[in-house]
Amino acid sequence: MPTFSQESLNKLATCHPDLQVLFNEVIKHFDCKITEGFRDEATQNKAYAEGKSKLKWPNGNHNKFPSFALDAYPCPIDLNPKTSRELDVYKWKMCYFAGQVKAISRVLKQEGKITHNVIWGCDWDDDNILKEHDFFDFPHFELK
Ligand SMILES: [Zn+2]
Repeated sequence: MPTFSQESLNKLATCHPDLQVLFNEVIKHFDCKITEGFRDEATQNKAYAEGKSKLKWPNGNHNKFPSFALDAYPCPIDLNPKTSRELDVYKWKMCYFAGQVKAISRVLKQEGKITHNVIWGCDWDDDNILKEHDFFDFPHFELK
């Protein structure tokens, strides 16, 4: 069974308990890593400057403490796709992973183990329609 690295555990520890319950379940089924939990002011504004976030401090869900958002990647994954096929494979793997995270979150909510809905960063209004969005944040999950 996959387990989180210490770095992922440290990031996860900065997150809301619902995200901790969710990803401690996800890791049992799908190897992954947590690359962001809580972001402080400097980290948030750097993410904004790099176009990774649309929001400046303190308006992002990563800026609450505990964090209402985290960024997670399935493992293994090529984070620097060079060809269009490699980029396609990256997106497919992110979607495949996100679908499983969403499904597990729905079961946990139904079972009363988490209390929030979990939103994926490619479907901000959670209606399973992606084409209406123009900002796709593949690794991002947040509580609503
Ligand atoms: Zn994020």
